[in-house]
Amino acid sequence: MKRVWWIVAALTALAIGGTMTTIKIDNIVASLPKGKGAYKRRTLSSITGIVVHHSAADSGTPTAIANYHISRGWPGIGYHFVISHDGTVNQTNDLESISYHVGYYNTTYVGICLIGHLSKHPPTPQQMDSLRGVIKHVKSVVGKDLVLKGHRDLAATECPGKMMDLKKL
Ligand SMILES: [Zn+2]
Repeated sequence: MKRVWWIVAALTALAIGGTMTTIKIDNIVASLPKGKGAYKRRTLSSITGIVVHHSAADSGTPTAIANYHISRGWPGIGYHFVISHDGTVNQTNDLESISYHVGYYNTTYVGICLIGHLSKHPPTPQQMDSLRGVIKHVKSVVGKDLVLKGHRDLAATECPGKMMDLKKL
């Protein structure tokens, strides 16, 4: 009995220490609406960074964003991941997909979008937790450290919003 409690205590310490990261990612790539054509592909090794975006609207869903991007003539949703207010993570493109989210930098970046207008309010704590988890996940899949940018660092935009502090990641 003593031994069992020792194991429980060790696992709890690991979880509190943050070394055990569990992130649940719901992959909805196949079920999202698609437009004409297909995004070009890349190898995982060509990925060098992650860009954080916001949806600039509070009522967004991955499907609604996909339909909006398709209406612009794109092959599908531009982001690789979408994180809802409650922290739900949807993977919306394969990492190998060169989808459109950051102009000239699309070929080497992964795009993560938080639902919300993050110039009007900050992201929810659940979104921040999920964002940290997704960043760790992407780095582990790619197998190396990646630079982290806000969309505004790479283009003339307010995205991911005035109240999104990337230093907290
Ligand atoms: Zn953006």
